[in-house]
Amino acid sequence: MSDDLLFSLEETIITEAEDVLKHMSSSDASLNKHYAKLLKQYKKIFKNHKKLIKINDIQQKKLNEVIKEVEQAKEAAETANKSKSSFLANMSHEIRTPMNGIIGMTGLLLETPLNVEQIDYARTIQFSADSLLTIVNDILDFSKIEAKKLELEMTDFDLRQSMEDVVELISVNAHEKELELILNIAVDVPCFLIGDPGRLRQILFNLAGNAVKFTEKGEVAIRISTEDDDGKTVRLRFEVSDTGMGIPENRLNRLFKSFSQVDESTTRKYGGTGLGLAISKELSEMMGGAIGIIPNPGQGVTFWFTAVFEKQAQGQECLPVIPSSVSGKKILAVEDNETNRLVLEGYLKSWGCRCISVPGAKQALSMMKEALAAGDPFHLAVIDHMMPGMDGEMLGKMIKADPSLSGTRLVILGSRGLRGDADALEKAGFDRVITKPVRQNQLLECISLLLGDVPGTQVDSSILPGEDRVMGRIRPKRKMRILLAEDNIVNQKLALVLLRKFGFNVDAVANGKEAVESLKKIPYDLVLMDVQMPEMDGFEATGIIRDPRSGVLNNEVMIIAMTAHAMRGDRMRCIEAGMNSYVSKPIDPRTLIDVIQEVFQGG
Ligand code: ADP
Repeated sequence: MSDDLLFSLEETIITEAEDVLKHMSSSDASLNKHYAKLLKQYKKIFKNHKKLIKINDIQQKKLNEVIKEVEQAKEAAETANKSKSSFLANMSHEIRTPMNGIIGMTGLLLETPLNVEQIDYARTIQFSADSLLTIVNDILDFSKIEAKKLELEMTDFDLRQSMEDVVELISVNAHEKELELILNIAVDVPCFLIGDPGRLRQILFNLAGNAVKFTEKGEVAIRISTEDDDGKTVRLRFEVSDTGMGIPENRLNRLFKSFSQVDESTTRKYGGTGLGLAISKELSEMMGGAIGIIPNPGQGVTFWFTAVFEKQAQGQECLPVIPSSVSGKKILAVEDNETNRLVLEGYLKSWGCRCISVPGAKQALSMMKEALAAGDPFHLAVIDHMMPGMDGEMLGKMIKADPSLSGTRLVILGSRGLRGDADALEKAGFDRVITKPVRQNQLLECISLLLGDVPGTQVDSSILPGEDRVMGRIRPKRKMRILLAEDNIVNQKLALVLLRKFGFNVDAVANGKEAVESLKKIPYDLVLMDVQMPEMDGFEATGIIRDPRSGVLNNEVMIIAMTAHAMRGDRMRCIEAGMNSYVSKPIDPRTLIDVIQEVFQGG
């Protein structure tokens, strides 16, 4: 009932009541008085009720106005936020184009004759530009997430390979600080999955990169386990723990917020944007998981996240094909770090080896002598290079100096930078050098070669890092200049590390548009072109590059497409679009080198 109707009804009741009262007045005076009093009270109540309703009305109107204002303010804030995000995205793109110019030109400058001082200046420019680019990329990613423009890829990938790639990427910094870097994937974790490996690597790269950044001594360990497996999908848990400075309790709740850092003073020792964790949180939630932190005051910190993946149809397990030369062999693992020792032992046992592990050189020697006395000597020993007390190299020398032990094949696990010492290791009697962190397949391949029919006990060229051999095969007159167009930051970094290891000069851009711009300024020999990129994809960019009116320096520049596994059928499309060849992701270093060689021989 409306208020007006209520009021008129009440007024009618009052008038009628007054009427009745008039008629009653002569017959009963006391009752009349009583009714008159009641009527007066009712009138008062009615008056107050009317007032109250009016006040209520006004308040309701005011409330409506306030709600409207709040809604308008909310809309305005959302619009402002969206335009802030797209402004950031545009700015990041705009900043990146000249940045690529700076990086590319500095690279060219470094190829010209310069004195030592000039080289130092140019390298500093290059390093600073690279750091700035990382920040810009973080901001771009963050604004994409805020504007809800970030989409996850769904492609087949090998979890182990992806994780080993990340570990390789961060191992450079970890080894510089002499940190032990551990990757431990539980045996029940299925590795052939469907999801977005680039974004998964990005989360892990953020967490493990931070762990290395904030740890001066000790170890950084990555552990992967299965939280839930329904046969079709699997929820995995990733843990990254370190032995670094840790995080104070009162800072924990703010960590996953954007631009948040524990030490915000301007004199901070460690750089960073404070965006890595915020981005990781969004990404893990987009993958159907969550992220969190387990503080361990005084002893570092553990970050964890979960993510859900579909399993590939065959549901293959991680386990590689085991050559018959490996199973049943007796192998000694010598490693001082307990987790690494367990990982190593786990690998060897899973291949059917009879493995015994010890934490140091002394125990290794006595174990070898014991085995010999029992008539069951070790076929092979895997020895860590950096151990307290007697190191791996010394242990190798002692084994080879003892004729009763010298028949055992020796593999040494070294850190980066050991490469130059290959001669010394050869003299010490090592058969193979493997750079830590150890890739499971690499170790298996190495052991099966040594225990198979392959003759010779010397450090041969096949154990040297791939780049040495590869450059021997291609041997360009000058360093080849490659432009890498790839939008995913971690994939970009990976490809950069890989190509630079091969000795190429590489610059990276994030989409086709930037690639075209760079080709207008710098005479690249080769473009590695991701096919799916935002802004301008690889097909469109190739069309522009091949167009004589486009203004690029060389319309005939070699272009190799890089496409996701899911797009394998697209080879023809790449060739039709004007590309010279094609590699599928994840990029296998050997295949990439073969394809590069092919296009240059054919071209
Ligand atoms: P940043 O780019 O600054 O590293 P992040 O979002 O990745 O941004 O991290 C935010 C902050 O969280 C860091 O600045 C640091 O203070 C803290 N932090 C992250 N990881 C660790 C860690 N493993 N140990 C100690 N502090 C950490």
